[in-house]
Formats: sequence, C-alpha cells, structure tokens
Amino acid sequence: MDSTLKFVRFYAPRDLKLVRGEGQYLWDIYGKRYLDCHTAHGVAFLGHRNPWVVQELKKQLDELITASPIFATQAMEEAVKLLEKALPKNLAYFYLLNSGSEGIELALKAARKVTKRRRFISFINAFHGRTMGALAVTWNPRYRKDYDPFPWEVEFLPYNDPGAVEKKVDENVAAVIVEPVQGEGGLAAASPEFLRAVRDSCDRHGALMIVDEIQSGFGRTGILWAHQRADIKSDIMVAGKSLGGGFPISVTAFSEEVGSKLEAGDHGSTFGGNPLALAALKGGIRALLEDNVVEKAAEAGKLLTKTLEEVVSEHESAARGARGIGLMAGIELRTNPMKAVQELQGRGVLALRAGLTVLRLLPPYLITRRDIEFLRGALDGVLAAMKPEPA
Ligand SMILES: *Cc1c(COP(=O)(O)O)cnc(C)c1O
Repeated sequence: MDSTLKFVRFYAPRDLKLVRGEGQYLWDIYGKRYLDCHTAHGVAFLGHRNPWVVQELKKQLDELITASPIFATQAMEEAVKLLEKALPKNLAYFYLLNSGSEGIELALKAARKVTKRRRFISFINAFHGRTMGALAVTWNPRYRKDYDPFPWEVEFLPYNDPGAVEKKVDENVAAVIVEPVQGEGGLAAASPEFLRAVRDSCDRHGALMIVDEIQSGFGRTGILWAHQRADIKSDIMVAGKSLGGGFPISVTAFSEEVGSKLEAGDHGSTFGGNPLALAALKGGIRALLEDNVVEKAAEAGKLLTKTLEEVVSEHESAARGARGIGLMAGIELRTNPMKAVQELQGRGVLALRAGLTVLRLLPPYLITRRDIEFLRGALDGVLAAMKPEPA
C-alpha cells in the first residue's frame, strides 16, 4: 500500500488479501482457496454470497435504497412477515439496528426504563460489544481498563453457576444478560440448569432476562436460538451477525410486557431497518427456512464435534479438549492459539481465537464432510508440530 493514511490497529492484521467469496470458501489474490471458519467473526454463517441474500439485495437495489422506517415500504412488510417466523413466539415487539452492540444498547436501555432499576448482572468472560453500555456488561479487563465510569452498575458472576445467580439477583436488579454460548470469551456453553436458574431468579425478583444470541443464534449451534435448548423464554433477545448474510443488521426483540412500555423518543436510529438491510434480512430468513439451515447446521455440527474430539485425543500434548456446540466450536490449547491460527491459514483454513487459549471455528452451515476432513488434516499438521508448554 502506498497510502500514508493509517487504519487504526484495533485488530492485528492477518497478512492475507482476499478477493472473492462463495459459500464456505474464500480466495486470495494468488487464487489460493481457504475454508472459511472465521466468517468475519461469525457473520458469514449463511455462506459467502448466499443466493437468497444476493437475489433480495439485487432486487432492492433496483427499487429503493433508502427510506426512513416511519414510512411503510414493501420491503418492511415482507421482512416483518418473515421475521415473525424466525423469532421466538413469546417476543411480540422488535426494533432494527445496524450492529450487535447497538442491539445490546437498546436491550439495556429498555430494561433500565421498564424496571426503573439500575443494576445489571453479567458473567465472567461475557462479551456483549464495545460501545459504552455494552462494554459495561463485557467482562474482559483489557477492553474496560481505560473507560470507567460506566453507565450502569454491573456485577460479574461465574458462568454456569446457578447458585451464584440465585444468591445475587434481587429487587435492585434490572436485568441479567447472558450469552447461551460464550463466543469471544472461550466457547463455554450454558447448561440448561444454569439458564433456568437465571429465568427463575429473574421471575422471582421482577428482573428481566436478556439473551445475547448475536453469535449463537440463527441456527449456528444446531437449534434456531441457542437458549431454546433450555426450554426457556427471554424477556429481551438480541440477534445480529449472521442475520443478513453479511449485510449489517441487528434485531432487538421484546416480550409484550416489555415492548408495550417503550415509547416514542426512547430510542431511534437513522439507518436501522433501511430497505437494503431489510432485503438482506429477508434473504437471510428465506435461506434459513427454504434451505433447512438449522437441520444442516445440526448435522454438520455433530460431525465437527466428533472430529474435534478425535483430534484432541490424538494430540493431548497440545490440546486440552474440544469446546462449544454445533458450528460454534473449537479446541482449547495449552498455549496462546494465535500461532495455530496463523499455521492453519498457511494450510488453507481461516480460524480465530476465543479467550486466552481457545482456537475457535465458526464455519458456514454449508461446511461438508469433505471440508471437515480437510480441516482435520490441517489441524493434525498444526497440532503435531506444536511443542508442549515448558513445565
Ligand atoms: C459480536 C458480538 C457482539 C457485538 O456485535 P457487533 O456487531 O460487533 O457490535 C455482542 N455480543 C456477542 C455475543 C457477539 O458475539
């Protein structure tokens, strides 16, 4: 690059120039193909250039690109009909925004307003975004350290500890916010007992339960919404990442009781729910329903889990165990995972990290048996070359 203009380095660069994406694959400038298990932090779960999404976007580009959601549009009417089929049945209201963090901000504001309380409960290793409200409920001290004071009072409890939740939720708590499977924090999956304890404690003390399904939702774990595995209903749910097949869109959805108390002026967004985003959402949900995405993700997820468990058992000097559920999976290593991520890239697999030691894999639902065999070969090579940490 000849330009002197510098991109702020919030992320370490990967030394790879991409030119094309199709389905579960990406290609670089040299024509080398990569199996995409990074999917832009989970966004491309529906695959690159998902045909339903491309079709809806192309159609919308020729009709109407921008309109405020205060005006009725065909795009909005059609998107709402489809959204109703995808959201959990108990959620009666929704609002559209552009990113996960924005969705979380609205969820927290709604809980603050409706309960009139100002205390939130979150969990160790939780990640909910980096805008100020979302950062307040995000655990990582490295992300938080220069930014206090935060807008809300937050207590972080141990994840998957029903007893801690029962003890700490009281009449001062506005909401408990929880990821059904922790993404950035290390791929821990909530036990059904833990999620039920959160639900029961919230009910007992008039607090709201917010589920952050931004990474775990929309079929990625082999069920439409990961919290439904515990057979519970949330008061507020936030979805984002994979919804629009790569187009920026997020949804915050509310129960009748919460949504009906939100009023004009409480929130808003200029770009939220613009026609192009609605077209992408339509394409995303049509793909979800018409291509049996959830079933396919469940099937592929089972094979991925089994494969990762076998890889771990063959490389115990480098790996501690398999983590995650479905297509939100990974391997806990005995060292920092970034070296393995780099080595996998050389072998044609794009992956990412989670927490301090987890190698994270977020493939599209299109990943095949052959792709998983290819992934296994790459992991075998990388883990075999890794030396155990000096004692
Ligand atoms: C990615 C993510 C967010 C933040 O979403 P952005 O679109 O980056 O703002 C919040 N919560 C979870 C669980 C996420 O994975």
